[in-house]
Amino acid sequence: MMAQYVEIKAANADSLLFYRMGDFYELFFEDAEIASRALGIVLTKRGKHLGQDIPMCGVPIERADDYLQRLIGLGHRVAVCEQMEDPAEAKKRGAKAVVRRDVVRLVTPGTITEERLLEPARASLLVAVARRKVSDDEHAYGIAAVDITTGVFQVVETARAGLGPTLARLEPREIVLADTLHDDPDLAGVWREIGAPLYPLPRDGLDAASAERRLKETFGVATLDAFGAFTRAEIAAAGTVLAYVERTQIAARPALRPPAREDASGSLVIDAATRANLELTRTLSGERAGSLLAAIDRTLTPGGGRLLAERLAGPLTDIAAIRARQDAVARLVEDTLLRDRLRERLASTPDMSRALGRLALDRGGPRDLAAVRDGLAAAKGIAALLGEAGDLPAEIEAACRALRDLDPVLEARLAQTLADELPLSKRDGGFVAQGIDAALDEARALGSDSRRFIAGLQARYAEETGCRTLRIKHNAMLGYYLEVPAAFGEELLRGPLKGDYIHRQTMSDAMRFTTLELGELERAIASASERAVAIELSIFTDLAAMLAAERPTILAAGDALSAIDVAASLADLASERAWSRPKVDDSLAFLVEDGRHPVVEAALAREGKPFIANACDLSGENAGAIAVITGPNMGGKSTYLRQNALVVVLAQMGAFVPASRAHVGVCDRLFSRVGAADDLARGRSTFMVEMVETAAILNQATRRSLVILDEIGRGTATFDGLSIAWAAIEHLHEDNRCRALFATHFHELTRLTERFARIDTLTLKVAEHAGQVIFLHEVVKGAADRSYGLQVAKLAGLPLSVVARAGEILAELERTEREHPRAARLDDLPLFAAPVRRAPAPAPPQPARDALREVLGALDPDEMTPKEALEALYALKAAA
Ligand code: ADP
Repeated sequence: MMAQYVEIKAANADSLLFYRMGDFYELFFEDAEIASRALGIVLTKRGKHLGQDIPMCGVPIERADDYLQRLIGLGHRVAVCEQMEDPAEAKKRGAKAVVRRDVVRLVTPGTITEERLLEPARASLLVAVARRKVSDDEHAYGIAAVDITTGVFQVVETARAGLGPTLARLEPREIVLADTLHDDPDLAGVWREIGAPLYPLPRDGLDAASAERRLKETFGVATLDAFGAFTRAEIAAAGTVLAYVERTQIAARPALRPPAREDASGSLVIDAATRANLELTRTLSGERAGSLLAAIDRTLTPGGGRLLAERLAGPLTDIAAIRARQDAVARLVEDTLLRDRLRERLASTPDMSRALGRLALDRGGPRDLAAVRDGLAAAKGIAALLGEAGDLPAEIEAACRALRDLDPVLEARLAQTLADELPLSKRDGGFVAQGIDAALDEARALGSDSRRFIAGLQARYAEETGCRTLRIKHNAMLGYYLEVPAAFGEELLRGPLKGDYIHRQTMSDAMRFTTLELGELERAIASASERAVAIELSIFTDLAAMLAAERPTILAAGDALSAIDVAASLADLASERAWSRPKVDDSLAFLVEDGRHPVVEAALAREGKPFIANACDLSGENAGAIAVITGPNMGGKSTYLRQNALVVVLAQMGAFVPASRAHVGVCDRLFSRVGAADDLARGRSTFMVEMVETAAILNQATRRSLVILDEIGRGTATFDGLSIAWAAIEHLHEDNRCRALFATHFHELTRLTERFARIDTLTLKVAEHAGQVIFLHEVVKGAADRSYGLQVAKLAGLPLSVVARAGEILAELERTEREHPRAARLDDLPLFAAPVRRAPAPAPPQPARDALREVLGALDPDEMTPKEALEALYALKAAA
């Protein structure tokens, strides 16, 4: 057996090998050590190899899912090796023959199918990336994404710049690619940012020609034209993903849909950093709760949840398509009754796509059949509701057609065949209803007759032996047996009946016997139940085949239900929260009235606090296309910035938006960056990262883009930061000419309005009351006159003595500043000095002031901890 193990392990060297032995998966050698550490299970030993003990540990079959999940989560791959024959078969070949075993499946992060390991409302995408040269210095990247749990198969081609954003949109569970791409230093940053595990495949066999062959074989077509006009890079990627599916699924083949080609220019480009920063589908700390998705998700079906997440991750740029989705939502906002009825139906609609996916891989059970049955019933009900609803918007009408396309025989046959109570595994039997199959009913009757007969035997045996407490019982080891008190047992053993009653077991106070009759009945029951299970399994196979033949229409119906669920969910949200339908067109407008941040608003509502709605106008006509926003920390700058970016995302995904009115000229790209000092959650709070990201924006933003920059430049010394921020805004205004919101604590930047017509300044209003600062969170035109750092420090609990002392110092500093203006003022920056540049007067030497300035220059009061503030005070005192 060890020889067999070693051979199989050698062929799967990069995976932990789950080696099936009876009711356990066993791991040996180093695998055992890794798994026992990772899973906290006992490490034992078994036999010897080269004179050394062989370490071993095992996981019981029924708990294998849990262990698999933990190992996959830790970045391991697992090869599942099953027994390919009954051990009894092996015995026939000889006493020492080893049971045949084979790896039936490699479990990797992108190919998990276990229901318990999947998030219902999240796609589980395995993604392949391939590259083709289009010119000497340019490559095209083909991206293919497959979800083997639902059969989704998409391909898209993008240029180098679109690679990161496209992958970020797909949120792959795993990426496969040729080793050459894996090792290309130019792409290392992309892989790091996406963070999904990578699996390099040898380049051989991944070329476009082999890929095309593989695709044609998989889908049984002579040409790929029927699916669309694919580029070579797309074909190569699709072939790579299929190669990996074959390699990991081994014998089973998931039921993939034909590849659907996406147009890369059809979606709003949002890179990984922007997604993270806007917390679209997860928060900066990686959780779904607190994200925009969680705040808007009112879907009732897993498929609807997945579609909503997909739409949120990939808003559109095609105005007609956006409006079509809006029409569907609008209709369901107006028609409350229809919406409520649909949602009532949707609430009990199961996940047909994943059920079909498991059935196709032969990992499904009776409950998956039931899921399809119930899904089909829901589809019928919803089609009927829509049929009575009169004129429908195109999107809902199309969904309704897909629902009507279903063959009613499918549901009827499932409903008729399946029993009321269903076991988890088909091998347990009992899922086929009575009256479906005569042979099955007969086998079952035989089984239950025998059981009844056995129950009758008890009375006869009691009479025969004279033991009134004789009982007939059953357990897994002995099967049926009769039990008598120990004293009675002794008599039976010695008495005249000893030939009939065969001793099986002696307990402390009882003895167990069997009889020939009991043995025969037991065998009859076993063979009847074996026969019954075999018949049930063949009925199961028939039903699965029936569904497989109708898979395209069932999947289309599933998609239709998801689309209806998404529209109804967005409508529900919009009508409850008074969101409005944004006007989306090809202008460069960006106008929001009474805008709100859905996540912050919900958080405040939980505390019983109101959210202050704010308008935004970046139309460049009545207002600037760029707004520079100043205001105290905690005033609401970041919230304001993000809520406006979210309006773009929501509007272009076809949803209503949290505003009383909105007008969005379609954006091609959305950028959002946060200054380094705020970027702690990503663990890369360096000025360098901030600059790299800012550079990307300045290089890529177009007139159609919306850019949001929050506190850029604060990660460095004041003048450096100010100059960089200044130059960046100039660039956005003059070169990118995009719409932008720029929050900053550099008040000097508000003077940009003096120079540029399309720049506005906004500030967050603050009131002071009895020396206390009150944030009104209201956005108004103008610049903040003060930063209120001390007030915020006081709110934060800085000792009052420190706040008071800091107040004295501030007053002193402000007085000095008034009397002796700093030599290098903003007016001396080249920009303001131009065209006439004044020669700066040489500053008289003032050592004390210089020393003070040096200390103060390094301080950023808004960023200090109380302890740092205290230390700074000591330093100031020393300098004075
Ligand atoms: P800043 O970026 O100016 O430091 P934030 O945007 O982080 O400020 O907002 C700080 C806090 O103020 C938020 O967590 C929220 O509780 C509150 N807040 C922000 N905007 C609003 C608003 N429009 N209405 C009510 N409260 C708000």
